[in-house]
Amino acid sequence: GVHAVRLESGTVRPPGPVALVLQDITEARRVEAVRRDFVANVGHELKTPVGALTLLAEAIEGAADDPEAVQRFAGRIAVEADRLARLVRELIDLSRLQGGEPLPELVPVEVDRVLGEAVDRTRTAARAKQLEIVLGGQPGLVVRGVESQLVTAVTNLLANAVAYSTGNSRVAVGARARSGFAEIAVTDSGIGIPRADRHRVFERFYRVDQSRASSTGGTGLGLAIVKHVASNHGGSVAVWSEEGLGSTFTLRIPLAGAGAPPVAGPPAVP
Ligand code: ADP
Repeated sequence: GVHAVRLESGTVRPPGPVALVLQDITEARRVEAVRRDFVANVGHELKTPVGALTLLAEAIEGAADDPEAVQRFAGRIAVEADRLARLVRELIDLSRLQGGEPLPELVPVEVDRVLGEAVDRTRTAARAKQLEIVLGGQPGLVVRGVESQLVTAVTNLLANAVAYSTGNSRVAVGARARSGFAEIAVTDSGIGIPRADRHRVFERFYRVDQSRASSTGGTGLGLAIVKHVASNHGGSVAVWSEEGLGSTFTLRIPLAGAGAPPVAGPPAVP
């Protein structure tokens, strides 16, 4: 509640509200700095594909009488346009997840469906690298969530597992119930993540190795999206990794119904 404060001559203004105002300004500055950073990053990320498209357009003009070269440049234009489309799509996903829009109602979602859909979406990329995606774990789990967001999150984890694996290996995905949560684990035996980078990979635009990531077409947004999905669901995401051995990303989402963790908020009226 708000208390009326009477300031009489001789009274000393309590320091509380002033400190609070200062804190608010500091927080506002921090938010503003984050926003500026974000815009600068987006600009930087857009520059690469846009620059490539400009160069390719010029190259195609100069190669008008060489059909083979035209074909090659056209292929690269498609790749760059794809990358641009993915970046824009992920930026939109991220801005939606970060708030602004209210979270859709959490409803019971079958984990098997989420995993199946995510595997379907990554199968082509896996096949291209001769990787096998193995679907396992405990069937029949039901979480409380937004299916489309969960599919996006697991797809991002699987896409990374594929992108950062070397050929002829396996990627495993599965879920199990554990203390009120479904733990969805995606495991690869790929290149792994150096210890120093491990806690930063969930930051927007953070990539362990710029040159390596740009060859895989990564945007640096995939894991930031996963993190937001996890927190929107009252869950979490964690990584275990060892350089040269591989990585496991674990997404924890509250189970629906029996065995579910208590819901935050006011207690239900009986
Ligand atoms: P990107 O689009 O670059 O993959 P992400 O946010 O999904 O962006 O991942 C951030 C960075 O974390 C990646 O650039 C990569 O360096 C590292 N990373 C993510 N997943 C894996 C993985 N399964 N194995 C090794 N490195 C990974």
